[in-house]
Amino acid sequence: MAEKIQCLRLSQEGVEDAFIWQPIKFGIYSVKSGYHSAVTPSRPLNPITELNWYKDVWLGNYSQKLKVFIWSVIQRALPFGENLQRRGFTTNVSCKRCGATESVMHMFFNCQYAQQVWNLAPINNAAHLAAQVNFEGALVGSRNTICLPPTGVSENVFPWICWHLWLSRNQLLFENRDISLAETILRSIASAREWISAQGTNAITSKVGVLPTEIDHPPIGDQQLTRSFTDAAWNKDTFTAGLGWIFSDQSGQIGRGSEVQEFVSSPLMAEALACRSMLHHAITSNIENLRVSSDNQTLIKAIKSNRLEKEIFGVVSDIKSLSACFTSISLSFVSSSKNVDADRLAKAVLYDPASASISVMGLGLG
Ligand SMILES: [Zn+2]
Repeated sequence: MAEKIQCLRLSQEGVEDAFIWQPIKFGIYSVKSGYHSAVTPSRPLNPITELNWYKDVWLGNYSQKLKVFIWSVIQRALPFGENLQRRGFTTNVSCKRCGATESVMHMFFNCQYAQQVWNLAPINNAAHLAAQVNFEGALVGSRNTICLPPTGVSENVFPWICWHLWLSRNQLLFENRDISLAETILRSIASAREWISAQGTNAITSKVGVLPTEIDHPPIGDQQLTRSFTDAAWNKDTFTAGLGWIFSDQSGQIGRGSEVQEFVSSPLMAEALACRSMLHHAITSNIENLRVSSDNQTLIKAIKSNRLEKEIFGVVSDIKSLSACFTSISLSFVSSSKNVDADRLAKAVLYDPASASISVMGLGLG
């Protein structure tokens, strides 16, 4: 019975489920977040300054893509040096700018580069944000941040600055391009302004709860396209799944990811979880145009149609909601003979969880 309950996979994004909005419940819905809260030492928090998933993340006045990004930072799901070290990796754990261990707080606040970016940021309490003990604290602290004139932005720019610090970090790491402090700030303000002005015209203030019935968009040029292949391997005795995915473009394979999840009820659920993890990875890698390939027809049908696939409904809702983060996205079937690389990754990580990895690409700018 306990296993059955643990195998229930609800939506991470809170789509079409009123109960999910309860902040504490949200945190324990996924095994991953449960694991993280179990390994994180409990620390007494002032209730007033405690993170409110609903208010601070999912209803925040910033783009869906940034919400996924902020969620990933808090879940420690991004491949920072410190996160990699915790998972047993010994290479690439240092900040490329200064050589210190790359923790979340280091990357976003304590590295000299980040400090200078915040000093330049046209906000009223930057020093206060950086003084928080963790990222969640800084996010909560940013509630009262005011973006100062003459930026033309009245919203909280905290998430945008974090996003562009992350993009600048990736550009340095993967493209050897050193983005200047001023440019990181200018890009943050520009993308905040662009998003805010788009809200007025499109009346899409919040995409939360909206399920696109059709996630295929018009075709675009091959140069900008990223293709993804996902697959899963499932162990029926342990209810454990290995998830694997590959990204490629015209130049060939550009990234990959794999992870193990426990309490997975079926091969179909495993495929759905692989697809969701791949989308998180794609969004935080700033992939704009994605062509998703899966060799699971049932999953594709469940995503593309409105047919209610009870077992995977929550995860499919997340997939639909996440698809709104892309400029264009499509989903198609691929025979398993063409999906061998993702299949191999999924099997490898199922039998050797230590092989789990995420490689992020330094792709174009948003
Ligand atoms: Zn550093």
